[in-house]
Amino acid sequence: MTRSPTRLPPVPALGRAVRLLVLLLGGLVLPATFAAATDATDDAAPAARPPTAVVFAGRIAGDETSTRLFFDFDRPVDFSHFMMASPERLVIDSPAVLFRFAEPELIEPRGLVAGIRYGAMARDRSRIVVTLAGPARAARFEVVELEPGAKFRLVVDLVPVTADEYGDLVSRQRAVLGVSGEVVTKGDRVRVPPKPEGRFTIVIDPGHGGIDGGAEGASGIKEKDLTLAVASKIATKVAAIGPFDVKMTREEDVFVSLQERVNFARRNHADLVISIHADSLRQKWVRGATVYTLSREASDELARELAQSENMSDQIAGLDSREQQDVVNDILADLTARETAKFSRAFSTTLVRTLAGDVPLIKNPQRSAAFVVLKAPEIPSVLVELGYLSNATDEKMMADPTWEEDISAQIAKAVRSFFEARLAE
Ligand SMILES: [Zn+2]
Repeated sequence: MTRSPTRLPPVPALGRAVRLLVLLLGGLVLPATFAAATDATDDAAPAARPPTAVVFAGRIAGDETSTRLFFDFDRPVDFSHFMMASPERLVIDSPAVLFRFAEPELIEPRGLVAGIRYGAMARDRSRIVVTLAGPARAARFEVVELEPGAKFRLVVDLVPVTADEYGDLVSRQRAVLGVSGEVVTKGDRVRVPPKPEGRFTIVIDPGHGGIDGGAEGASGIKEKDLTLAVASKIATKVAAIGPFDVKMTREEDVFVSLQERVNFARRNHADLVISIHADSLRQKWVRGATVYTLSREASDELARELAQSENMSDQIAGLDSREQQDVVNDILADLTARETAKFSRAFSTTLVRTLAGDVPLIKNPQRSAAFVVLKAPEIPSVLVELGYLSNATDEKMMADPTWEEDISAQIAKAVRSFFEARLAE
């Protein structure tokens, strides 16, 4: 892979371009019209062609006065976009595409772009979230066909606007589209019938996923992959160890909003939620498993910072998450929630005792903070940091399959002890 920093491919003349979709006119987002004549006759053998479009190149160029982004892909894709406030973001939605940038370093933030993330939102949807350096609008948002049926380019030109103009843009767009950034991230919205007597439903929640990769270790290990691997092991072991029906909030690399994780547990009448993470901390020396429960006031500074970064998940994915903090506060005032909090702490104690001596624990392993994902009022919930990807020793440990087996076995054991104790009461 060679880097060619001087190459800035031109945007072809519009005469030949096929206009595929949304244009931002007068600040209003118009509904997408997909006028692409798929003249690709598929005469070439499509042997190794993935089932979805591949975004194989991208680039960010320009400065604070005008910034151009483009993305190249191999077949027509129906993109749409909208802007979000607090912080200012441009969200680009599409059906599922594969992001396989040949030169990912070319999409480094610059100019009016402060950050960029891309990935799956659901099995059939993808998203690019562009965090803006300040208020800006897409003066151009257009797909052009570079090579008939084979190479297409989404071109986005950002220009700065005033804060007032940006506010207008977002509110007018909201009036037209009702945009909140929310997408349906899970298909089964049907309520589950009550479970048989003597059985318990355990929800295992692999943190992050899709566009939200979570933390990343120095070796490149991604939190979203680690949590899914360990959560799957825990699910299998819990199901095998007692009268437990185990459900996972996600079983693949897709984004699931924090609210949807909570809703999923409630719909399934969960008796316990275990959310699995392996985050990064500023304090790189900190290591060891930690069990967090919900509290309005954080138990300590580290827990407060962690919850804050954890609760950013929806924002990262381009969702509106402003009201969530209030919900946490409301729920804590509730009586049921106080009862639930006791059970959450009881499970946390059981879990820490089970883990002790077997896996490294942080100092004071039982901590608490206002984690949105733990706020189901009637379901005992804990968030387990398996370790911290910011710590080199933890990272190495967590890459070891023996450790994965070990910690998931201990977590399963703790689940059994917890319900045995409850049944004995
Ligand atoms: Zn996390």
